[in-house]
Amino acid sequence: MGQGILFIVSAPSGAGKTSLVRALLERDPALALSVSCTTRAPRAGERDGVHYHFLARERFEQAIAAGDFLESAEVFGNLYGTREQDVRDRLEAGEDLILEIDWQGARQVRARIPEAVGIFVLPPSIAELERRLRGRGTDSDTVIAGRMAQARDEMIHGDEYDYLVVNGDFDAALATLAAIVTAERQRQARQQGVLAALLEG
Ligand code: GDP
Ligand code: ADP
Ligand code: 5GP
Repeated sequence: MGQGILFIVSAPSGAGKTSLVRALLERDPALALSVSCTTRAPRAGERDGVHYHFLARERFEQAIAAGDFLESAEVFGNLYGTREQDVRDRLEAGEDLILEIDWQGARQVRARIPEAVGIFVLPPSIAELERRLRGRGTDSDTVIAGRMAQARDEMIHGDEYDYLVVNGDFDAALATLAAIVTAERQRQARQQGVLAALLEG
């Protein structure tokens, strides 16, 4: 599928995946973020079409039936999905694209696009994960308890990813992510044009 590199970033909720990806996008204009669809209610400050495409459950289910999604999964009782056409268009335009999706969706993407690069972000400790979820101040106690209960089940799937990045010190984790992106761009298979031009010239 296309020419751009597809990166999958997953993490237990609260590990800092969204903050890291946002910072990465700011320092690398050649990277783009896929906007997921979800049936979850918008949080304060979240805008439709920017953070997510917010859909009613019925419309989401119609889109699944129509085969619109590259992947979709139920996470914490809400449906999340990535529209296939968006991903195809952007990769074909040569953009390197990040999917911020859960492990179930990551599996589906890998099955269809084996060259996708998987990155799993980990918190430095379980206690720190809970502190961050509380500190973020966007979720109720019940939602936080649910996400903490799920954290272990998500982390079990860390071994399905190409890279593990511990988000202890934020800047260090960001530098590591940027290094992974840089290294992936230098893969020999992606540099064939450079090699061919040199050999021809
Ligand atoms: P976060 O944990 O603070 O990022 O909370 P969100 O509500 O934004 O995301 C909830 C879960 O849904 C996370 O595990 C995300 O990785 C996952 N998720 C978000 N978008 C998608 C998507 O398009 N597809 C899939 N499969 N999962 C998604
Ligand atoms: P996720 O998208 O994985 O659920 P967020 O990016 O929303 O996580 O981060 C959860 C909370 O933790 C946010 O309040 C964020 O500001 C904070 N956070 C993220 N990374 C770090 C870090 N390295 N050190 C301390 N706090 C962090
Ligand atoms: P939140 O509701 O906190 O924004 O996201 C909760 C979880 O849903 C996160 O772990 C996030 O990775 C996951 N998620 C967000 N978008 C998608 C998506 O498009 N597909 C899948 N499979 N998971 C997603």
